[in-house]
Amino acid sequence: MNEMDKLESILPEWLETSRLQSADGTVATYIPELSKAPQDLLGIQIMDKSGRAVSAGDTDFSFTLQSISKVFTLILALMDHGEDAVFSKVGKEPTGDNFNSMMKLELIQPAIPFNPLINAGAIVVSSLIKGDTAEHKSARILEFFRELAANPELDYDLGVYHSESETGHLNRSMAYFLLDKGILQGKVEEVLDVYFRHCSVKVNCADLARMALVMANNGTDPLTGKSLIPKRYVQIAKSFMITCGMYNGSGEFAIGAGMPAKSGVSGGILTFVPGRFGIGVVGPALNPKGNSIAGVDLIERLSREFEWSLF
Ligand code: GLN
Repeated sequence: MNEMDKLESILPEWLETSRLQSADGTVATYIPELSKAPQDLLGIQIMDKSGRAVSAGDTDFSFTLQSISKVFTLILALMDHGEDAVFSKVGKEPTGDNFNSMMKLELIQPAIPFNPLINAGAIVVSSLIKGDTAEHKSARILEFFRELAANPELDYDLGVYHSESETGHLNRSMAYFLLDKGILQGKVEEVLDVYFRHCSVKVNCADLARMALVMANNGTDPLTGKSLIPKRYVQIAKSFMITCGMYNGSGEFAIGAGMPAKSGVSGGILTFVPGRFGIGVVGPALNPKGNSIAGVDLIERLSREFEWSLF
């Protein structure tokens, strides 16, 4: 039996086992609109390079990309400006702390955010997207996401967008801090608007799996043959996904699953097996590190069974 056949036969049962973990997680509430997501929801889709997809659970559910979008805005900023310009404004390190200290953003000189996947770093990256106006920048990002997902229908969840835009005081204060330090340039409210919008793009598991498949295939959509991302930028994004993609749970996930991944506070996880599979998961109940509790459980078990770990 090949791997996809085996996945097809075990996935529904394995998903139901992982779903039980949801009871121990918490659905995010700090963006009020996100709190409406069902606690025990879980869905997964796995797609191989021929386009064959295997899925289980609540794959019809739509959710917002949230922090998953940061991987792709980073890639777009790299495509717009190149490595030197981008990494003069945002760092490459997985942690906000030095090896032996409690130093935080306010204390370091220059005040460059540690990496592009933490909020401060992603807000800086949003400011680097080319475009004449905030609308133009957002339109370019949405178009890029649509191409990656091979879904021209991708659009914003305006309810989530407004909900975060109205309550995102912490992100707003970070952006003004970065303006003061000269790291952010331009109109802060416009930068924040670009950021909130790309976080609110609505997807389902199939969209995530297809985006992940492009990453798994070094930037080329294997189904169309179209090159969407230069290989070097996939390599950079992949390194960030391994080291910082699951917040403070990245080390644990590297040991448990060993796959590049990026999670979002809506419960989405985009992950992949390089050269082989793109995977999209959603489970809104989060563990204390902010990652889908049931989603992590399912991916880790699959990785062990099929030996997907890179390490
Ligand atoms: N839009 C969210 C925020 O800025 C993204 C955070 C996340 O997904 N972890 O807080």
